[in-house]
Amino acid sequence: MQKRIFLSPPWMSGDELPLIEEAFASNYIAPCGPMVDRFEREFAEAVGLPYACALSSGTAALELLFHELNVVAGDTVFCSDLTFVASIAPAVHRGAVPVFIDCDAATWTMDPALLEEALSEAAKAGRLPKVVVAADLYGQCCDYMRIEAACTRYGVPLIVDAAEAFGAKYWGRRGAGDAGMAAVYSFNGNKIITTSGGGMVASRDRELIERARKRSQQSREPVSWYEHAELGYNHRMSNIVAAIGVGQLKHVEKIIQTKRRIFELYRERLGASVGFMPEATYGQCTRWLTVMDTSAFVCPCDCSLVEEEGKGRRKTSGLTNLRTEERSQPSVLVERVRLALEAENIESRPVWKPMHLQPVFSGSKIYGGEVSERLFANGLCLPSGAGLSDVDVGRVSGIVAQLLV
Ligand SMILES: *Cc1c(COP(=O)(O)O)cnc(C)c1O
Repeated sequence: MQKRIFLSPPWMSGDELPLIEEAFASNYIAPCGPMVDRFEREFAEAVGLPYACALSSGTAALELLFHELNVVAGDTVFCSDLTFVASIAPAVHRGAVPVFIDCDAATWTMDPALLEEALSEAAKAGRLPKVVVAADLYGQCCDYMRIEAACTRYGVPLIVDAAEAFGAKYWGRRGAGDAGMAAVYSFNGNKIITTSGGGMVASRDRELIERARKRSQQSREPVSWYEHAELGYNHRMSNIVAAIGVGQLKHVEKIIQTKRRIFELYRERLGASVGFMPEATYGQCTRWLTVMDTSAFVCPCDCSLVEEEGKGRRKTSGLTNLRTEERSQPSVLVERVRLALEAENIESRPVWKPMHLQPVFSGSKIYGGEVSERLFANGLCLPSGAGLSDVDVGRVSGIVAQLLV
């Protein structure tokens, strides 16, 4: 069996270990210290925002922002439908009711027209959401000009969930973190840079970041004894893992160039028969993950894609009118490709399952939904680690091509 190819494993440059040793030598083996301060400074610089607070995860960053906005039971929160569950979970923990907004087929990120429609309806009903959370999917920014304009028109704050999109460009800017009240980043093991686990909240708003920092350390008041005027969290980043972050940060551009190259190799090899996440005209996607879209694939002989199912036969690619139970799983074709890769010890993963199809959110309101359903049914994330060699990409493409070309 060949060595396993993971979907998005960490890529270490070699600069991290000496920095970890430096952190050890300082004896700040704690959730504070000089490496945390340095990582915050250098990260803020990298995303072009003046203030940043390093945290234990991206989820923790979102939790602090929902706290900042005083999201409470019964509030509604608008959120991208096609995202990872952490975009909305901390709000729901606080009792918020999620409303999901489908994505635009041209960018796979929140559809600004649907957001406008949802906000207009909410305004008429006198129940505007407490906040809108827009997720930058697979390394691609949302169209924040339009999303921010809609939020501003209705006076609703915006959180930029850039957990998957550190390093992405929006109209030439270093990301779109300055669109909303704050932007959230993740350094989980699978993200574009990693600290093993970690996150960051960054903003133009100095006071917001100071409050987040205080709350991430149990909201301790600045006196010699433990004094608390409000309750906080234990969400601060460890000084040891911050050292990994500082080391990783030096190599972001190289990581992004590698990921974009991996995407180009996949496209060269497979682009004649399948699509990929389109790159939005307004920015540059990092291709954190290369995501294949088999919607348009037509099997030349039609045989392998038609499954016997009860008395009827149904075509399994390019499905649009799916019954509920069919919508809850990827298409037979996607599953076939995934299993063929798995048989060769290669990890791949279906496109994120839309939030409105998640059992935990059943019955939630959704604006649109067809685009994310189609992408979930027909999309597959391919191995995209920055350590992937051309030979590895060739191996993966070869297996996919056998089924699709
Ligand atoms: C990974 C991710 C998060 C959560 O980040 P963690 O650091 O894993 O807590 C939030 N939102 C999105 C879109 C993500 O992909």
